[in-house]
Amino acid sequence: MPNPDETPAPGTILTNARIVLPDGVRPGNLHIADGKITTAAAGDEIDLAGRYVVPGFVDMHVHGGAGASYQRPEQACGAAAFHLAHGTTTTIASLVTGTPQELADAVTGLADLAADGMIAGIHLEGPYLSHDRCGAHDPALLRAPDLAEFQGLVRLGRGHLRMITIAPELPGALDLVRQAADAGVIPAVGHTEASGDTARAAFDAGARVATHLFNAMRPLHHREGGPIAAALNDPRVTVELINDGVHVEPAVARLAFAAAGSRVALITDAMAAAGMGDGDYRLGVMDVEVRDGRAALAGGTSIAGSTITMADAFRRAVTDLGLPIEDAARAASLTPARALGIDARVGSLEPGKDADLAVLDDDLRVTHVMKQGAVVPRARILGDN
Ligand SMILES: [Zn+2]
Repeated sequence: MPNPDETPAPGTILTNARIVLPDGVRPGNLHIADGKITTAAAGDEIDLAGRYVVPGFVDMHVHGGAGASYQRPEQACGAAAFHLAHGTTTTIASLVTGTPQELADAVTGLADLAADGMIAGIHLEGPYLSHDRCGAHDPALLRAPDLAEFQGLVRLGRGHLRMITIAPELPGALDLVRQAADAGVIPAVGHTEASGDTARAAFDAGARVATHLFNAMRPLHHREGGPIAAALNDPRVTVELINDGVHVEPAVARLAFAAAGSRVALITDAMAAAGMGDGDYRLGVMDVEVRDGRAALAGGTSIAGSTITMADAFRRAVTDLGLPIEDAARAASLTPARALGIDARVGSLEPGKDADLAVLDDDLRVTHVMKQGAVVPRARILGDN
């Protein structure tokens, strides 16, 4: 790969690649010019020696990584750089429940980073969530939907607030779902005790995502399908899946793909500990212990986000779930891009889209990353790669 410090040639041709497209794997060359995928280009040739090229990963739900948290905008660069080095070229930064002032400050700071293109938007995970399904959110800070607070956050987000997770059974929740949809903020159903009927009412009101399906929601029972069955059965709804082998067991993850296919979006829900190994961390105001790669609230058993990258989630979809590589790539890129409404620009390796991609070896490990046609200097971040 060319030295990223040099001025990039006008074009690049990745030769001898196995290009992972939405409908299969095509051996051949991938042409890049002016940061976009094209049908032809002149410039440097880079021989990939048969390695896979997949579209850059789109992570629509991630809290941090490499010791850094999106809750603290001054740390956001570190988290985004870590995930970018692992192939995530589009990031929606997620904020856990905080006080009104904390959320206002975080949204304000993250909106600056979104304007700079470091992240693609902001996801408010809360604060309008169920006490019974609060997971790693501080139950003392959960509150009923507050339209005035939400509209204030929309203003502070300056067009970069992309998604909000809401428990639709809370008083006023469906109004907030409608307001969010009208404001261009994708309403998502999650951290919820909702019945199936209430979840369906939220989807009818404009909710289009189920936040980490199965986790922090009323479980599926064969006589009461709840929000899980409602989401899996609704063709309008994208379901997020934390495919880390901890949050959802492979047999159940396979069921989600069997039921919802191209509507399953892999997410990391990664917190600051991703890439850092075992230790003690913070998620919002909560203390989190990571032991054997598993993040849990200190002194408890509640799972508190993951420690994976999208590259891990993608690889596990192939190795643990048995998905064809193109289906795993779709779940890691095109499906979340569609859910976010940015699939005209990212999500697949098709002419006209941004040249956002990851190069993978035979073991599906990331060897190189490109964002808008520029090679990402991974070595500075990952040390040994
Ligand atoms: Zn989360």
